[in-house]
Amino acid sequence: MLRKFISKVFRRGGAAGTTATGATGKPAARQRKRAPTVLAKAEHGIGNERLSRGARGTCEGLQKAGHQAYVVGGAVRDLLLGVDPKDFDVATDATPEEVHALFRRSRIIGRRFRIVHVMFGAEQVEVSTFRTADLSEAETDAHGRVLRDNTFGSMEDDAARRDFTVNAMYYDPVAETVIDYHGGIADLRARVLRIIGDPEARYREDPVRMLRVTRFAAKLGFSIDPRTRAPIKAMADLLSNVPSSRLFDEMMKLLLSGHAVACVRQLRDEHLHHGLLPLLDVILEQPLGEKFVMLALQRTDERIGMGKGVSPGFLFAALLWHETLSRWNALKDGGAHAMPALYQAMNEAIDTQRDKLAIQNRISADMREIWSLQPRFDRVRDGRGLRTAAKLLEHQRFRAAYDFMLLRAESGEIDRAIADWWTAFIDADDADRAAMLSARPPAAAAGADGAAADGAPKRRRRRRRKSPGDAAPGPAAAD
Ligand code: ATP
Ligand code: MG
Repeated sequence: MLRKFISKVFRRGGAAGTTATGATGKPAARQRKRAPTVLAKAEHGIGNERLSRGARGTCEGLQKAGHQAYVVGGAVRDLLLGVDPKDFDVATDATPEEVHALFRRSRIIGRRFRIVHVMFGAEQVEVSTFRTADLSEAETDAHGRVLRDNTFGSMEDDAARRDFTVNAMYYDPVAETVIDYHGGIADLRARVLRIIGDPEARYREDPVRMLRVTRFAAKLGFSIDPRTRAPIKAMADLLSNVPSSRLFDEMMKLLLSGHAVACVRQLRDEHLHHGLLPLLDVILEQPLGEKFVMLALQRTDERIGMGKGVSPGFLFAALLWHETLSRWNALKDGGAHAMPALYQAMNEAIDTQRDKLAIQNRISADMREIWSLQPRFDRVRDGRGLRTAAKLLEHQRFRAAYDFMLLRAESGEIDRAIADWWTAFIDADDADRAAMLSARPPAAAAGADGAAADGAPKRRRRRRRKSPGDAAPGPAAAD
């Protein structure tokens, strides 16, 4: 109660104010009188065949029952850009209960923001009821972040509540019109991201919007309107109040957008990496770590571009590897045994993230597995790992761990000869493998020091088979 009061006073006193304001900065209430721009098919060019069955079916079903229903948000933006939307959201004046009653295969989800998932075959359409533009009654935290918002409103209200003008357009598949309240069409043509309303107020309501603008700018190749951009640096700290699970979701969207490299660069340009993710701070400030992470992100983008799966465990393992590595080295320097030290370093690296980023257990288990297999690759360097090399090949997570090791070699962390040895070993037949196991270890063969320390027998080095590395190992496919 007190919190709500304080936050209200705080927001009233602040430069920004609380009411949603239009793109021009005028209060939404005044803007609401303005008629939206309505584009006919000849002007917008969207054909209904580009909609999914679920998007059409949901809108048609709702409209037949007497409700308003539109495809909204990113899907309309993408359709106008000629891009295939990755999913479809629908906005309606029907309440969640009414939507649920109309579609047998549907369920109401969410607390902070109640919506309905409607299933059409394997497709899931997210249906949200128009939200009110007046947030004065919404429950907020002490910083003005909206915690819960289930007060319904009109379509105009709903448009004012959306984040960016290009994300606030509605497509009616029955009338075949595009409805635009905030100049989204013009911004789309100018390829600019503009927040709806007063930027500071909108970031305070939901700091994740600062991450979203960064992601969309990188993904769409749009510029950020100067007013939208201006407060980000000063307000970035508000991200620390966002629940870690929401940050994790947003981070996943960013990393799996197919434009992760561009997104991370943009985050840095907007000064958003500091504090958001301790891992980004660490990584982006270590030359070796940065090369490794950027390579991992590049491979991820390539895989997504080719329509291949990406494992979140691999990605997070890559993002946190140098953090783990430096802790591991410090522990070993302090006299700890290698493997226990590695396990401790892994735990510490994951635990450091926990406060900020809720990495799910399933993902952290994958990360641990990929990391803990790394020393087994390294050990062939001086011959110690040869005995267990064939066994490692059979490990369930071998492929992911091997891809990871290739990145380490490519970024200069480990000797290229180790990666080459494994690549040749994978490709070899049984006889060749046996020969490789009894040949000189890669470090000795490469003339590196310390290799002969084990007294590995000096034999003629076998000619290696041509590397199958062209199989373009990237982050392991989701299994
Ligand atoms: P993507 O292509 O990444 O899915 P999107 O624009 O569809 O992009 P979603 O997260 O799917 O993004 O959200 C759907 C729509 O909901 C957005 O286009 C926007 O209108 C609205 N929206 C989502 N998140 C917010 C937010 N934090 N604040 C205001 N509006 C939001
Ligand atoms: Mg979407």
